[in-house]
Amino acid sequence: MSNPQAWSSLVRFIRQYYATAEGLVPLHAPCFDQREKDLVTNCIDSTFVSSVGQYVTEFEQQVAAFTGAKYAVAVVNGTVGLYLALKVVGVQSNDLVLTQSLTFVATPNAIKMHQADPVFIDVEPETMGLCPAALKAFLTEHSDQRNGRCIHRQTGRVIRACVPMHTLGFPARIDAILDICNQYNIALVEDAAESLGSVYHGRHTGRFGQLGVFSFNGNKIITTGGGGMLITDDAELARHAKHLSTTAKVPHAWLFEHDEPAYNLRMPNLNAALGVAQMQKLPQFIAQKRQLAQHYQHQPGLVMQKEPANTQANYWLNALMCQDQTERDAFLDWTNSQQIQTRPLWTPMHQLPIYAQALRGEMTQTEWLAARVVNLPSSVVNDA
Ligand SMILES: *Cc1c(COP(=O)(O)O)cnc(C)c1O
Repeated sequence: MSNPQAWSSLVRFIRQYYATAEGLVPLHAPCFDQREKDLVTNCIDSTFVSSVGQYVTEFEQQVAAFTGAKYAVAVVNGTVGLYLALKVVGVQSNDLVLTQSLTFVATPNAIKMHQADPVFIDVEPETMGLCPAALKAFLTEHSDQRNGRCIHRQTGRVIRACVPMHTLGFPARIDAILDICNQYNIALVEDAAESLGSVYHGRHTGRFGQLGVFSFNGNKIITTGGGGMLITDDAELARHAKHLSTTAKVPHAWLFEHDEPAYNLRMPNLNAALGVAQMQKLPQFIAQKRQLAQHYQHQPGLVMQKEPANTQANYWLNALMCQDQTERDAFLDWTNSQQIQTRPLWTPMHQLPIYAQALRGEMTQTEWLAARVVNLPSSVVNDA
């Protein structure tokens, strides 16, 4: 154990913060009170529990207003939200889609849902998000422009889109990424699953690309049980995403006509009722998380990831930087044995057998971070 004193004082702080002398301190648990119960009960009483209902519309309006986006489309989870976003920007079978290897598996999986393939680009340590310089280097070396399209030189495949991810709620350098995507004719979709409440240069994450996608899974900053949301300022993309999420049914008083093969990806009203209650608390949740991050940053002997300059992170999960993988593993072993739930980052996608064959650039920073970062308990609590 490299710094036993710092570690035990950290565990003392965590137990004190969560007011639990013993038992498990989870990495991230949802926070509900009577409001959620009231709205879900209302929803049940109304009998509109399924995909049509006032809570879906209200939840979409709340997220649009909160982020400043013109349109929001609620779906059943973040993964299919990414799938739909890629669909409406034109990703098709055999395309290549640039993304980071340091992400949750849902990101490349959503690309695979189109029979397209991910290309992994390195991240940068300051943001833990896609590195603009690495993106540029890959495109300079491996792509040509042909008829307004970005073509991967070795394979002739179209590089259609780019999906950076705002890791743990720390905003990626999204304006630089957008510039490169524009320059190379690549669509930009932001995986903002972890970054509701995170702002880059005064603009909410998810609002730089053609579309941004949030997740409301049980472990995210707010939850609808399961759920996701696309945001965009483009009326046509919003209309198309909504249409595709509702089996592409052509509006008609009684006729069943569908003009594209499409699925039922709509968020049920029951889930949206939870979302409406959670959205009212989101500003408090963010404030509380940012305060917890301050506490962690003031703990002696710890190096914590901090929000990059000119950004506001939601600090969805606080990130401790260990010296190396040996220290990381010792820290994970020890804290989990103390029933403090800490977790490493995801195994980088290029190291998973399912994505080992994917094209990729340098993975130096990805591997460096994956070996060192540990997530600390970051739940919000009632009456903290
Ligand atoms: C949670 C998450 C998703 C997927 O969201 P689900 O709602 O669980 O499908 C996608 N990408 C990232 C980075 C996530 O953290």
